[in-house]
Amino acid sequence: MNIERVKELVRELLIEIGEDPNREGLLKTPERVAKAYDFLSHGYRTNVDEVVNDAVFQSEANNMIICRNIEVYSMCEHHMLPFFGKCHIGYIASNRVIGLSKLARLADCFARRLQIQERLTAEIARAVMDTVDAEGVGVVMECRHLCMMMRGVEKQNSVMTTSSVLGSFHDDQATRTEFLDLLARETV
Ligand code: ZN
Repeated sequence: MNIERVKELVRELLIEIGEDPNREGLLKTPERVAKAYDFLSHGYRTNVDEVVNDAVFQSEANNMIICRNIEVYSMCEHHMLPFFGKCHIGYIASNRVIGLSKLARLADCFARRLQIQERLTAEIARAVMDTVDAEGVGVVMECRHLCMMMRGVEKQNSVMTTSSVLGSFHDDQATRTEFLDLLARETV
């Protein structure tokens, strides 16, 4: 990302919304915003292989592995406003498992782009499926969207839930039910 160019664009945006980019409080704002955008869009400059690196391990077990409550921050592609919430990832390994912290980083790889929640959910599921060659994968996301909360309909408390199921999570009702039951349990 060209920081200098983005600084200039932010300066122009400030003028257009009725601000004076030369007033003291705003002098460094274009630079701060440019750096923030660089961070918030770093998903475009990372890929799953890089993120996972070599944290995929052989495992005989083929029970269900679930990582709940992964915090996710993304931005909607319609308004470029944040949406944020929790992501729950479950999978059944065939003979490979992935380090838990890598699941969170993998989610970030797709969250740090302009997204719609439905696609973000599906992309995370697909990436887990491909990375560990899982028997099945389920991803559920629950997010609040600032574009709904602070503009438009101004619904403060609505939470959007999306899910994506692949492999045995899709084909086998019992597997899907087990996954959803485990998600619904009290946390420790
Ligand atoms: Zn939006």
